[in-house]
Order: sequence, then C-alpha cells, then structure tokens
Amino acid sequence: MSSQENFPHRHNSNGTHDSICRMCLATVATSFREADLAGFELRHLCDPVRVYRISQGWLTNPAISS
Ligand SMILES: [Zn+2]
Repeated sequence: MSSQENFPHRHNSNGTHDSICRMCLATVATSFREADLAGFELRHLCDPVRVYRISQGWLTNPAISS
C-alpha cells in the first residue's frame, strides 16, 4: 500500500502531522502520531465539487507544489 502517494504528509512545527488529499487538496486529518493518519485516509471521500474546481484551476494550494 502506498497511501503516502495519494496523501502527502506535512510536518508542522508544533509536532503534528497533516495528511493532505492530493485529489481535492483537503486536509484529511491532523495528528500527533503520523501513523494515525492512515485510518483517516482510508475513510476519506473527496468532495466532487471541490475536485472539479481544482481540475478547472479554480483552487490552488501552495502546500502541494511538489
Ligand atoms: Zn480528497
């Protein structure tokens, strides 16, 4: 399994980890334990309207630039 590919993790200065959906760019979950993010990623469903807007270039997220 490679959830990191679809949900890159951002490491915050306060010690928490964000999981970010690559499809809809939503922050799926924030946790002090990075391992806990996997459960949220499994349950995540993208908002189709949001995905559509991103595909049209209406939303951008500088956190996912790589
Ligand atoms: Zn999503």
